[in-house]
Amino acid sequence: MDFDSLRSEMVRKQLRPRGIRDPRVLAAMESVPRHLFVPRQWRGESYADTPLPLGPEQTISQPYIVALMAERAEVAPGCRALEIGTGSGYQAAVLAAMGATVFSIERDRRLLDRAARNLKKAGHADVSLRTGDGRLGRPEAAPFDAILVTAAPESVPDALTEQLAEGGRMVIPVGVDVQDLLLIRKRAGELVEERIIPVRFVPLR
Ligand code: SAH
Repeated sequence: MDFDSLRSEMVRKQLRPRGIRDPRVLAAMESVPRHLFVPRQWRGESYADTPLPLGPEQTISQPYIVALMAERAEVAPGCRALEIGTGSGYQAAVLAAMGATVFSIERDRRLLDRAARNLKKAGHADVSLRTGDGRLGRPEAAPFDAILVTAAPESVPDALTEQLAEGGRMVIPVGVDVQDLLLIRKRAGELVEERIIPVRFVPLR
């Protein structure tokens, strides 16, 4: 299968027409080999316009959602980015490809080991991975310029807003069943919230 041309087509047909504009996001989505993060039985679907299963209540998000979250979190070279829910490691790889220093946390140890192998194969062994409860964030590495939450809590965990840097952005799906993807910005210590789109993520347990 010609994964390189499928990946270019994904950027051209799924991301650009839906309004993804940040050249760093587009370049990262064009370069990160998503098929290295997709379980073998789904590999042929790696560049399809859909989320794919990783395990029970675990999915690798649709490419558009990965790109949208990176864009709205304004991930930039040199910024410190925290991801909650490492899953396959794909979103973390995209953030690393954009030049961020990436920290990620996942509750499922086996999935995290697999993500570590995937990231190594993709050339992003420098992503800092940790098992644990993502609702607590990574206080030892805070503050973060960008926080991307890839599983849905019922409300925004306080630890995460506390770990957001001044001027920092958090993109987080909040709610039960169908969620609102929120952009939360910390400005002069205040949290300013904006709704992006309705989404459907697996629950943050
Ligand atoms: N970002 C991932 C997809 C994540 S799917 C990727 O790019 O592939 C959501 C992940 O959140 C699952 O792997 C699930 O195990 C994890 N998760 C759920 N609740 C969690 C919690 N409380 N802390 C950390 N991870 C959690």
